[in-house]
Amino acid sequence: MKGAIDDVCRVRDILGDLAATTSYLHADAALGGMVLSFADRPEPYGFDVGSDSVSISDRKMIGSPLPGGVALTRREYALCVAHSIERVGVLDTTLTGSRKALTPLTMSYAFEQRELDGFRHVVNRCLETAEYAVTRLNDGGIPAWRNRSSVTVVFPRPSADVVRKWQLAPHGDIAHLIAMPHVTCETIDAVVEDCLE
Ligand SMILES: *Cc1c(COP(=O)(O)O)cnc(C)c1O
Repeated sequence: MKGAIDDVCRVRDILGDLAATTSYLHADAALGGMVLSFADRPEPYGFDVGSDSVSISDRKMIGSPLPGGVALTRREYALCVAHSIERVGVLDTTLTGSRKALTPLTMSYAFEQRELDGFRHVVNRCLETAEYAVTRLNDGGIPAWRNRSSVTVVFPRPSADVVRKWQLAPHGDIAHLIAMPHVTCETIDAVVEDCLE
């Protein structure tokens, strides 16, 4: 809801302090993974700081029209779900035991089209748009804020009309907007104008 990025190093430290004998840390980076990979001074969340698995969604920053994603884990854990398939003589390490070819194809196409520099550009534009939204809302007297390296802007829940018109996601007395690639500064201006009415 608030686009926060958990401090994986701190979580690991706490587990250490508690002398936890077993632990498994999954980094749900569905949205944030594709942002952090291209942001300046990104918060660490990967295997290097102690995550045991990481996942990203393909229908957010990557913009795939199909639900899908990538889940990465250490080989030892991947082998826990592996079972050999005698008929085809391979080790199946998928969770579902079956997969469609179209999902990896659309992801691969997105990366080939954009390349890493393209994604870096898109992600940084989203971060700028999010910052623009915070500034515009703040200028209008609305106490909006966002976490660093986050495209999610949090602000007090506006009227039901504004929530409905812009399909905002409210939760209790707050709402958020997420600066995805199609969100422009002009859109933000229109949202802010409606919020201030
Ligand atoms: C969007 C999101 C999900 C779900 O991703 P899907 O691609 O819809 O399955 C899970 N976790 C977080 C943090 C998300 O932002």
